[in-house]
Amino acid sequence: MSKVLKLKCVKCGREYSEGDILYTCDDCGIDGILDVILDYDTIRREMTFDYFKNNHNYSLWRYLPAIPIDDPKGIQPLQVGWTPFYETTKFTRETGLKSLFIKDDSRNPTASLKDRASAVGVAKALELNRKVVCAASTGNAASSLSGFAASAGIETYIFVPETAPEAKVTQLLIYGSHVFLVKGTYDVAVELCFKAAAEFGWYNRSCAINPYLVEGKKTVAYEICEQLGWKAPDIAVVAVGDGCTIAGVWKGFEECKILGLIDKVPKIVGVQAAGSNPVTRAFNQKTYQFEYQKPETIADSISVGIPRNGIKALNAVNQSRGWMVDVTDQEILDAMKLLAQKTGIFGEPAGVTSFAGILKMKQLEMLSGNETVVSIVSGSGLKDVKSAAGAAGKATVIEPELEEVKRALNS
Ligand SMILES: *Cc1c(COP(=O)(O)O)cnc(C)c1O
Ligand SMILES: [Zn+2]
Repeated sequence: MSKVLKLKCVKCGREYSEGDILYTCDDCGIDGILDVILDYDTIRREMTFDYFKNNHNYSLWRYLPAIPIDDPKGIQPLQVGWTPFYETTKFTRETGLKSLFIKDDSRNPTASLKDRASAVGVAKALELNRKVVCAASTGNAASSLSGFAASAGIETYIFVPETAPEAKVTQLLIYGSHVFLVKGTYDVAVELCFKAAAEFGWYNRSCAINPYLVEGKKTVAYEICEQLGWKAPDIAVVAVGDGCTIAGVWKGFEECKILGLIDKVPKIVGVQAAGSNPVTRAFNQKTYQFEYQKPETIADSISVGIPRNGIKALNAVNQSRGWMVDVTDQEILDAMKLLAQKTGIFGEPAGVTSFAGILKMKQLEMLSGNETVVSIVSGSGLKDVKSAAGAAGKATVIEPELEEVKRALNS
């Protein structure tokens, strides 16, 4: 029996049964993103504390009872999830917090949190017997989808902005995807991808319209709770582009509460780049209308003019009584360097944006210092070496002589 009770439009509330709809609400169109409503009574009986004690599957699939995949045939062997969770006291001065928790989701098979979504998206595609999938992406969603599609042996068509970092484009190609580098922004790539998907009948992995992708992303919250000994943090901090990640994080915490695994939910704090901050602006203006502004930030993964999942993102922040903060590109680069130099964790610009947000909140005196705060590092620094190089500084070039080393040490 399916775990899904219904799919519900986040905009108008219209409900659909699972087989009747693939993507967004018939009445609301592209804004009518659907939320998957699961049969929590059944899941609660299965996912008990004992269930977890006896479960030796250390990947996101340990939460399978709460993931709407009915046929496991599409589950790939790639190891996704159960990523490292660190507590560090090294940032007490910079954050004012006694300790800080870091969830390192760069440690996924294709090196970003997007793998949680792709693992579920590809399993769903195979369940639906789809042989061709597509995605528009700022980079990571596509490289992730490509990796999982490679494992599953299905064909992939990818639309990324021409400006996507080389490492991410190389990932796409090495996994064997058909790659279109679109002359334009991410927003333009999305539009083209949706048109092509409709024209050619491809299964669309775009997190913004495919309701199942968030169901993978939510597992990061389950893991955080379990890694804290089935406790929620006080605050979870997440970088926001389209808003699917933050929506998934919030859904995961809410479900843990509904299922009786934790007794309170955290506040969710979204962080955007100052040059690409439509969600922050909408939050500050207390509206659900998003205004387009040409995105300008080095954090390519969150460089988004119009958030495709903005309603769910704002719901996460508002319902959890959290807030939004912005950080500049310079603050992102500073945060990248600080995190790397003190912990050995190297995140890409968007990957360290949550950490930059925590540093910013200290400056803005938004933290009391007693909170349990989790920073989600969502992607690896090796994905965008060019941006990192700006923060890293220069190496010393020398002749192969010991004297030269001495001279360099003394200068
Ligand atoms: C996609 C992505 C985000 C943001 O996720 P959205 O769902 O677009 O809000 C953050 N960090 C990284 C590394 C990403 O790839
Ligand atoms: Zn609707």
